[in-house]
Amino acid sequence: MRPTLVILKQKEFGWVISMRVTVIGTGYVGAVTGACLAYLGHRVTCIDTDEKKIASLRRGEPTIYEPHLSELLQLAASHGGIDFDTDLSAAAAASDVIFIAVGTPSLPSGEANLHYLEAAARSIGGAMDAKKFRVVVNKSTVPVGSGNLVETLVREGIREARPQERSAIRFGVASNPEFLREGCAIGDSLYPDRIVTGASDQETLAVMQELYRPLVEQSFEAPPGVPRPAGLKRVRMVSTTLTSAEMIKYAANAFLAMKIGFANEMANICEHVGAEAPEVMIGIGLDSRIGSKFLSPGLGWGGSCFGKDVLALLHTAREYGYDSRLLRASIEVNTAQRQLVIQKLQEKLFILKGRTVGLLGLAFKPDTDDLRDAPSLHIAERLLQMGARVKAYDPIAMNACREQRPDLRIRCCDSPLELASESDALVLVTEWSEFRDLDLPALARAMTRPILVDGRNLFHPDAARAAGFDYCGIGRPNSQAVKDAIPHTA
Ligand code: NAD
Repeated sequence: MRPTLVILKQKEFGWVISMRVTVIGTGYVGAVTGACLAYLGHRVTCIDTDEKKIASLRRGEPTIYEPHLSELLQLAASHGGIDFDTDLSAAAAASDVIFIAVGTPSLPSGEANLHYLEAAARSIGGAMDAKKFRVVVNKSTVPVGSGNLVETLVREGIREARPQERSAIRFGVASNPEFLREGCAIGDSLYPDRIVTGASDQETLAVMQELYRPLVEQSFEAPPGVPRPAGLKRVRMVSTTLTSAEMIKYAANAFLAMKIGFANEMANICEHVGAEAPEVMIGIGLDSRIGSKFLSPGLGWGGSCFGKDVLALLHTAREYGYDSRLLRASIEVNTAQRQLVIQKLQEKLFILKGRTVGLLGLAFKPDTDDLRDAPSLHIAERLLQMGARVKAYDPIAMNACREQRPDLRIRCCDSPLELASESDALVLVTEWSEFRDLDLPALARAMTRPILVDGRNLFHPDAARAAGFDYCGIGRPNSQAVKDAIPHTA
């Protein structure tokens, strides 16, 4: 049976086949998914249990910072393509496709907390009737086997709400992992490298193919500010089993986390032997078998996904009696990398008690306000424990820090200059592009001691030293010492 399809003509989108879609969860993934599907011409309702988020989205104000999201939501809303609600029932009953995009944070054991997913799946079951075939899509990152769990929970929800009708109610379950990166999530969603869909039946797969047809064929006009990458004509849709799709997401994140960890390990060895890690990374990244992305040495990865997903995969492997040494090492290397900043400060300042350290950047990466597992918070905690004073400046994430971590005694500053003023050291934590243009001599002059630990290798060491800084980066041994070690030729 085909899903209920409505042919719509919209000025901006041309002829499109529109489906009714519900997206449960309006966080980083749900809000972006909802906005993009509505932009493609589908009729979307975004659901969240958080009333404040829904009220804010109804006013056209996303509760997260994500470039172009606000404009895309407004564009979609102005054509009646998207609305927001706290009640799932009506939207799910009307929908052909129901996405689950709720959080799956880590439990203390490392396994994924499926509490939100389970609640959402049960409510979907409660909202279903026999009027049409629907597809329930897992977009949250969930351990292998969760597709089966969702199916069972939807069935339980149906049984509780409509025991008489239950055999007539038809639905399929798909796994459609999300690969977007915060900070460029709209571009990643509209022009993905691939779309992975896991399903156990052809009918479910056909619905997913229809839903994503505009993306696969790239038949839509690029939205303002998010141009289509040159040469992109078609996006590959990878169809797999449910379990493979779930595994693809974890394996992809585990690989990326490991690749960054590898770059950091090499950078640490570079410091010992006197090699410049950025040069080494260029040299190996140009090998097409390796590739240059995710090879920047720094103070380690953070964010809501890598740590949580690597831990969850480790946990899953252990459930099957397998100890994944590579995954364990990946986490250990990353934890040690954050500690490296503290060591570098100790080498420069000796005593940290009573010193003032300014953090340039709080967000776990540029162009987002996300502070989940942000290295900045870990470093701040360690410094505070050691008796240092901590100041911070971030272009976007300071409100999030005040709201989410009122317990951390971080003094938020209004400008990089205020941050530098009377600080004993600065640590570049987040490589916001605006930090590239900082007036380094002015910052160095404002400090008590002009020490700069460049945790992302953003600055050129010579430029930072010329500005008056005592500079150190990651995997960049004192370039002067390296120069001195090179024999002079006449
Ligand atoms: P988030 O915490 O930003 O958002 C989750 C939202 O779900 C919250 O607004 C919460 O209120 C809502 N919610 C929870 N239970 C609900 C329910 N029963 N009904 C309705 N709403 C409910 O999370 P996120 O960062 O968007 O991540 C969502 C999932 O996507 C996670 O599994 C994550 O691992 C995965 N993922 C995230 C990213 C990313 O960059 N953030 C990338 C790829 C995959």
